[in-house]
Amino acid sequence: MNKPQMAKERPEAPQMPRTMTHQVMVGRSGHGGVAVGGGAPVSVQSMLNAPVHDVDANLRQIEALAEVGCEIVRMAIPERTALRSFAQVCARSPLPVVADVHFDAHIALEAAWSGAAKLRINPGNIGGLAKTDQVIDAARGAGIPIRIGVNAGSLDASIAARRDLTLPQKLAESAVQYVRYFEEDRGFRDLVVSAKAHDVPATIATYRILSQRLPHVPLHIGITEAGTVMQGTIKSAAGLGVLLEQGIGDTMRISLTDDPTLEVRAAWQLLAALDMRRRTPEMISCPTCGRCQVDMIPIAKQVEEALSHVAKPIKVAVMGCVVNGPGEAADADVGVACGAGQAALFRNGKIVAKVDESRIVDALLEEVEKL
Ligand code: SF4
Repeated sequence: MNKPQMAKERPEAPQMPRTMTHQVMVGRSGHGGVAVGGGAPVSVQSMLNAPVHDVDANLRQIEALAEVGCEIVRMAIPERTALRSFAQVCARSPLPVVADVHFDAHIALEAAWSGAAKLRINPGNIGGLAKTDQVIDAARGAGIPIRIGVNAGSLDASIAARRDLTLPQKLAESAVQYVRYFEEDRGFRDLVVSAKAHDVPATIATYRILSQRLPHVPLHIGITEAGTVMQGTIKSAAGLGVLLEQGIGDTMRISLTDDPTLEVRAAWQLLAALDMRRRTPEMISCPTCGRCQVDMIPIAKQVEEALSHVAKPIKVAVMGCVVNGPGEAADADVGVACGAGQAALFRNGKIVAKVDESRIVDALLEEVEKL
């Protein structure tokens, strides 16, 4: 007889008040800077993927990201020759720019003085403690925070080799050791920590341990290398949704193998779904069925696309028939309940017009404009 499958042992789910973490500023307060931790709203980040030497392309991408609600951008500086374009991007960017540096501490030092709003390093690959000290001193001098980013793929060899620890325990242990060094040995507390795995349960477990062992440190949460849009969004929503709901995570990135604006849109959708932050309209649309007498799916897609550019935290319903349509449409700020070739248009709970199928999208958006 098969034994019943035992649930994997997981750390207990805590409820962490976000006010327990101390607050760091990414960028200058009052000049587009973003507070992270200390009860600040969970901020949305993304990472540039334009060629590093193309300043204009990076700035265009930042503009596009800002338009969909990105609050912090990160730029890779893979080689010293990219520092020049990094400085130009920082000087002209409307959003705080984080320098992402691996292997070469000199790049981190230069980035700190080139306008970086934060440094993201992995002390395990930056060249030893002496180099790490130089980076800390540069960040302190420039008055910017550091994100200590630990990844499953680049764990410190001494911790990676330990057989008594699970992967989440290794990731957390590595981050805790670095934080102790930064805070206790070097007196540097302007920190954010991330410790990511591409495995969702491992990431959840890691951040739960971190939130218990480092309750004062703001956490940057994400599922690394999550995949393309469908898989990456689902993995990120599953992992980050659990964490955010438990009060864990002060800033977030949804990593997708695609246009970074999709990462930002997905992040906002997740925050809205958890009723934590809203920026764009929430769309309620029915899945359609045999009762539907209009071509609903393209209508819903057009409305979704148009609403992604509307920065109003409202509810918009697009419903296919009279079963649930009038109720949902009346409950939303603006809505349509479709019938045979036409729709009843609702605003603030009342029918304001009957519109032909061909005008549903335009009429709905005109009502959204009026709100
Ligand atoms: S609202 Fe009407 S068309 Fe849409 S799923 Fe429900 S019953 Fe079907």
